[in-house]
Amino acid sequence: MEIKVLKNILGANEQIAEKNRKLLDKNKVFSLNIMSSPGAGKTSLILQTIKRLKDKIRIGVIEGDISSSLDAELIGKENVPTVQINTGGACHLDANMLNNALENMPLRDIDLLFIENVGNLVCPAEFVLGAHRKVLVSSVPEGHDKPLKYPLMFTEVNVVVLNKIDLLPYINFDIEAFTRAVKGLNEKAEVIQVSCTTGEGLERWLDWLQS
Ligand code: MG
Ligand code: ZN
Repeated sequence: MEIKVLKNILGANEQIAEKNRKLLDKNKVFSLNIMSSPGAGKTSLILQTIKRLKDKIRIGVIEGDISSSLDAELIGKENVPTVQINTGGACHLDANMLNNALENMPLRDIDLLFIENVGNLVCPAEFVLGAHRKVLVSSVPEGHDKPLKYPLMFTEVNVVVLNKIDLLPYINFDIEAFTRAVKGLNEKAEVIQVSCTTGEGLERWLDWLQS
C-alpha cells in the first residue's frame, strides 16, 4: 500500500517535470539541476560561473533551501534574475516547487538557468524537476567514498564536479579511487576537478557547460 502511494507521488511529479521542460524549451532556456551535500560548493560554483559568463549569456538562478534567502542575496548581487524557494522543511526540490519558481522567472530574458537544489545527497536524486542536465558537486573534504555510499545520486547525474581541490594537500583524499568509483556507477559522467576558491579547473567546467 505504501509503495503504491509513493509511486503515485513520483508519477505526479514526473508529469509536472515534463510541463517544466516544455516551458523551458518554449522559452529556449537551458537548465541545470545542481545537487550536492550541504557545503560542497553549489552556490560558489554558480557564482564563479556567473562572473565568467554573464557578459556572454543571460543567466538566471533559482535557489532552493529549507529556509533563509542567504544564497539568493549573494547571487542577486551579480544582477542576475534570482528566485529563492524555501521548502519549509522538505529536504529536496520537487517539480511543483520548480514550476512555481519558473512563474516568477523572466524566462524570455534568460538563456541558462541554474537550479540549486537543497543540500542533500539522497532524495534530490529521486525527484526529477524537468531540467536538461543534472550536475553533482562533490568536494574533497567529504571524502572519496561518497560514490559508494550514495550510489543513486552518482548514477543519476551527467557530470560530477569535484570541488575544493585546493585542499588536497591537507586531506587524505584519493582522486583515483573517487574517479574509479564514479565511473563504476556511471561510465558517461565526466569528473571535473575544480577549486572555486583559486579558480583552478573552472575552464574545463565552462567548456563542458558550453558544449
Ligand atoms: Mg547554496
Ligand atoms: Zn527530501
